[in-house]
Amino acid sequence: MRKKVLVSTMALMAALAACDRQSNETDQQAESSMSEPASPETTMSEAEQRAAFDAEADAVLAGVPDIEVSNPAAQVLLSPFDGPYQGVPHFDEATLDGLKPALEAGMAQNLVEIDAIANNPEPATFGNTIVAMEKAGDELGRVFTYWSIWSSLESTPEFRAIQQEMVPQLSEFSSKINQNENLFQRVKAVYENEEEKAKLTPEQQRLLWLTYTGFTRTGATLEGEAKERYAAINKRLAELQNQFANNVLADEEGYVTYLTEDQLGGLPASFVQAAAAAAAQRGREGEYAITNTRSSMDPFLTYSDEREIRETVWNNYYSRGDNGGEHDNNALIPEILKLRDERVALLGYDNFALWRLETNMAKTPERALEMMEGVWEASTARVREDVASMQEIVDAEGGDFEIQPWDYRYYMEKVRQAKYDLDSNEVKQYLQLDKLRDAMFFVAGEVFNFEFTPLETGTVPVYREGIDVWEVTDKTSGELIGLWYFDPFARQGKRSGAWASSFRSHDTLDGEEKVVLATNNSNFIPGAEGQPTLLSASDAETLFHEVGHALHALSSNVNYPTLNGGVGDYTEFQSQFLEYHLWTDEVIDNYLIHAETGEPIPAELVAKIKAASNFNEGFDTTEYLASALMDMRYHMIDPEGLDVDTFERETLAELGMPDEIVMRHRSPHFGHIFSGESYAARYYGYMWADVLTADTAEMFAEAPGGFYNKELNKRLVEYIFAPRNAMDPTEAYREFRGRDAQVEALMRDRGFSVPDSDE
Ligand SMILES: [Zn+2]
Repeated sequence: MRKKVLVSTMALMAALAACDRQSNETDQQAESSMSEPASPETTMSEAEQRAAFDAEADAVLAGVPDIEVSNPAAQVLLSPFDGPYQGVPHFDEATLDGLKPALEAGMAQNLVEIDAIANNPEPATFGNTIVAMEKAGDELGRVFTYWSIWSSLESTPEFRAIQQEMVPQLSEFSSKINQNENLFQRVKAVYENEEEKAKLTPEQQRLLWLTYTGFTRTGATLEGEAKERYAAINKRLAELQNQFANNVLADEEGYVTYLTEDQLGGLPASFVQAAAAAAAQRGREGEYAITNTRSSMDPFLTYSDEREIRETVWNNYYSRGDNGGEHDNNALIPEILKLRDERVALLGYDNFALWRLETNMAKTPERALEMMEGVWEASTARVREDVASMQEIVDAEGGDFEIQPWDYRYYMEKVRQAKYDLDSNEVKQYLQLDKLRDAMFFVAGEVFNFEFTPLETGTVPVYREGIDVWEVTDKTSGELIGLWYFDPFARQGKRSGAWASSFRSHDTLDGEEKVVLATNNSNFIPGAEGQPTLLSASDAETLFHEVGHALHALSSNVNYPTLNGGVGDYTEFQSQFLEYHLWTDEVIDNYLIHAETGEPIPAELVAKIKAASNFNEGFDTTEYLASALMDMRYHMIDPEGLDVDTFERETLAELGMPDEIVMRHRSPHFGHIFSGESYAARYYGYMWADVLTADTAEMFAEAPGGFYNKELNKRLVEYIFAPRNAMDPTEAYREFRGRDAQVEALMRDRGFSVPDSDE
């Protein structure tokens, strides 16, 4: 987290607003064809060499005075974590009063440290410059731990006011570091010193390269007016993106649909209970609230018999940010796009997508588009087939209408039941949250050799009652790896979706193996008093995915904080791969247990689930691809004079988007790409990562022991998980797989027809 604060506060802001992310994603991504690292020629051991660099860095930072902070609430947020496990966040003492002064002091402290590094009279070395930068910014990093809690979990108008005020200042702070001429000259000197570079380990060479390109890609080479304009653009972008996110949130909170008793037809009892509770919470006792979030909208549209209300709920959800008035996002989009374009033009790029893709595994927008368009034909063909099946049901029922987008989930559920005789509600009975969590612990034991042990409540502070914490150790050596905090349930003030983040990431600075503090959040609706919480199959997969991010963080063996960062189109691969374990026999037999009878899920139901798993792939792939393709187009066009509504409509028509389906995220609430930058021109990355995932899964499926093959898992952890961003992804994948990934694996995985295969 430290390094990210140092160089990429923008990325942090952005990432905090996106709905599925890792804590350490940075905007400075890795290039897939880094030049071959020279072999280290050193007589010292690697550990000794790291210690020597550490000492050089400490010498630079030793003379930096501490910024005085008189506000006690700010001191809490800035002070080192303390207590057990190398210290844990003081969630029990943190108050919002301290946030603003703590941010200001943290930024000031970080800038003083940066000045000490930048103005050091000694010649620039890897230790006194690069490692010193890794060590700077501790205080601010800690403040962001609390910030992330308030922004995503305990959001209030008070917090949002502070955020609104501080985001531009944070952006300015970030620019001050990125545009520190002396600092960049020192980084450049280290980068260009071939003799010294040859003595670095491949990991250190990668860190150096990431640091250097982090500067060149973010304006460090600019001078004079261009430099000023660059900083001004970033500041304005941060404001606009923040406003975009807040507008979406306002529309999520502002459009709740209330039902009466006679409007509950088709809805499962558990959903009705939750809707009653949600209404009561809003002072509407006796009614039922359908909130304007995915976790409420999706099941409602799947089950409700009330076609007109489905239309209303659908409209509310897909109109977020598009309702006119003060929370409308349409005008913000061209402004954001124009500023992004202008910014990368200053660096010599024709458009934002070119700038973005250069450092991703895909390398060019064209390669990403080629991959997506290849799958698009097959996925929309599947949608048309599915719509025809649904229309048959409507006609047979004597319904005098054509399938509309608000009918899609409802009739798909009927088709699913007719064709596969699979009742999602029945499946749910076997997907108990506690058992799924234990299943994930089992998988973690098999793949990573981790053991999870629950902590007594009160052993470490949590930010709210009911959040449980586990200790993670190595099963064989007993070595402490980290802690895992789990906050599974929906509540007001918590943003929608599911995600993972870290309060502390792995590194070995100061010669100490850091204890990782990883956390998972989701928005499950808790079971009624005394009843287990039951999940849908897709929520269960999401749980595996997100806990997968936490496991990825826990598995890190990198030596420097920056190397925990992700590479955009690669970073979802690891967690996506861990979704496959949900449907392995080892998990099915032991953890997918009926909530009432305790019986394991019957083999025939599993067979049905497997058969049905590709059933709605047309919908899922198409709604996703529509958003991903739109994202890439937005960042390739000239945004001058852009009318968002027209552009969205015309682009989708040109692609041949089926009328019965909408983008997963329509433009006015596409927070991944407009609430921040980290997914901009990179939403395709999920599918890019899917290709890697499917290719890896095929390898495991064909191996003896399948997904629990010990030899393969060892290599998986060694090359794919533990190095995080310390290895170039293309190289790491080749080491693991013996070749590049093949897109056909994805097509087979989704049950789409693969051209020219098997014939
Ligand atoms: Zn993810």
